[in-house]
Amino acid sequence: MTFANLGLSPELLLAVAARQYTLPTAVQTEAIPAVLAGQDVMALAQTGSGKTAAFALPLLQRLQQDMEEGSKQRKVKVLVLVPTRELSGQVGQTIETLAEHLPKKLKVAVIYGGASINPQMMHLRGGADVVISTPGRLLDLLDNNALSLQHVSTLVLDEADRLLDLGFADEIKRILEQLPAQRQNLFFSATFSPAVKKLALALLHEPKRIAIADLT
Ligand code: ADP
Ligand code: MG
Repeated sequence: MTFANLGLSPELLLAVAARQYTLPTAVQTEAIPAVLAGQDVMALAQTGSGKTAAFALPLLQRLQQDMEEGSKQRKVKVLVLVPTRELSGQVGQTIETLAEHLPKKLKVAVIYGGASINPQMMHLRGGADVVISTPGRLLDLLDNNALSLQHVSTLVLDEADRLLDLGFADEIKRILEQLPAQRQNLFFSATFSPAVKKLALALLHEPKRIAIADLT
């Protein structure tokens, strides 16, 4: 399997080549077509298996197709929830570099707690296409009407196991209440536990199941 065979656009293939990804990883091979098709996905795969690009590449492709040319006011269409500030930055950077050659420029907002909220509120003025956030700070911003989740078409839970380990279950629940009921859900975790399973069941609708991890 090659990235080209997975149905990615020439601009994304260029970005993949620039990062020296020669072949898609197993989780990418399985997830990319499903995400492109709009399916929900539940992927269990160990750390380092390439989960970020597995959701970022197909979501970037779909965002390009759906984007209105020259529209200035941006609505959040993809929301990625991550457990930590560090991961928020890493995922944001990966998405930015993979989007580098796309003809329609995307605005990506990286949001996290433990830093002043004002610059983040300023950055969200005029909207964003993709928001990557830790749960607590996202709720603070929602309480401040700094962004709206009414137009989110895809929700990604990245490192769902760590989100739960860090005690974010209630925050996630409150965020879910603000999302449109009709949406795509992508669920990524390195480990599987009863709590992870419960969250996945609550969230996912007939998901494509990808299990590349050892499920011990
Ligand atoms: P995970 O989220 O599963 O822990 P990441 O998405 O962070 O994994 O990717 C781990 C590393 O592998 C990163 O350095 C990333 O750039 C690299 N990587 C991702 N996909 C590929 C690929 N197809 N070929 C080579 N390296 C890749
Ligand atoms: Mg990851």
